[in-house]
Amino acid sequence: MDLKQKLASRVSRQGPLAIDGIGSSLARASHRLSIMLALKQMSLSLGGQTMEYHAHCHCKRVRFSFRSPEITTGKRCNCSLCVRRGAVLSPAYIPDADFTLHADERDLAVYLWNDKVVRHYFCKTCGIYTYGAVAGEDGKDRYRVNLGCVEELDALALDITIVDGKALPLADAP
Ligand SMILES: [Zn+2]
Repeated sequence: MDLKQKLASRVSRQGPLAIDGIGSSLARASHRLSIMLALKQMSLSLGGQTMEYHAHCHCKRVRFSFRSPEITTGKRCNCSLCVRRGAVLSPAYIPDADFTLHADERDLAVYLWNDKVVRHYFCKTCGIYTYGAVAGEDGKDRYRVNLGCVEELDALALDITIVDGKALPLADAP
């Protein structure tokens, strides 16, 4: 018995009320579907699609990966450090739980300046700046990464905004 026959026999056995039953269950299903689609669209428009990104320095000794909403924008900064290194940075900090370093920490050097709160990591061999780490309010590190290190991402094609880091007060004169 195919679905059409089943429905027909249900209608004939249970009378017109069954039709309402079928109609309302269809309406419920279509309502559920439209809610699901709306939620999906909402998460997409908020950049909610989580991606797994892989990255490495120039000599590939330092590798790292991270999960993040799809990256479509980047940040550059005009502070005395950023203007010299010229990197395009991730638009947001990446939480510790979404960041993995796949490297021997001895291959990394760290640069501290100003208030010495942000640790700026770079490869000891090729000198490439890979990411900055800073402890969040929960005490766990969060990371802002050099998007130029990210595989299959054209950092210079992103929608880039300039952060006016130069205007921020310094903790002490360098
Ligand atoms: Zn390197």
